[in-house]
Amino acid sequence: MENDELQRLVEEISLHFFSMPFLHKAIFNSRLKTTGGRYLTKTHHLEFNPKSYEQYGLDELIGIIKHELCHYHMHLQGKGYKHKDQDFKQCLKKIGGSRFAKQLSKQKEQPYRFLLECRTCGQQYFRKKKMNPDRYRCGKCGGKLKGIEIDYQK
Ligand SMILES: [Zn+2]
Ligand SMILES: [Zn+2]
Repeated sequence: MENDELQRLVEEISLHFFSMPFLHKAIFNSRLKTTGGRYLTKTHHLEFNPKSYEQYGLDELIGIIKHELCHYHMHLQGKGYKHKDQDFKQCLKKIGGSRFAKQLSKQKEQPYRFLLECRTCGQQYFRKKKMNPDRYRCGKCGGKLKGIEIDYQK
């Protein structure tokens, strides 16, 4: 699944379950290690771990999206958006989001062969195939990208 599909999925889930639009960015971040996703309170963007989807499938991803959207909507509405807050707990209960993301196994590391790195902000995008960096822009800041081939040592 690519970032634009993820973005659409988050927007759809937001409208369907919260009756409110998701107006920020949702991206896959392969640097997330053990968490399935996270909400960035400063930018209001959501980041998801591609391994959750690869290892556990769409249902798991949807559960994580609902969970992160609870953080997102509670925060934007000025309600309690942290795990311990009642507002957040009720939100999760109402829409059936995951309480916790499943544990991610380490043995199935992705064989990423290629890395696109933003020349402006340094954001890294790992890819399985070689890509032309001139055809893409940084999803975070819109900066130009450079391509780096990754050499794996086993
Ligand atoms: Zn959370
Ligand atoms: Zn950037």
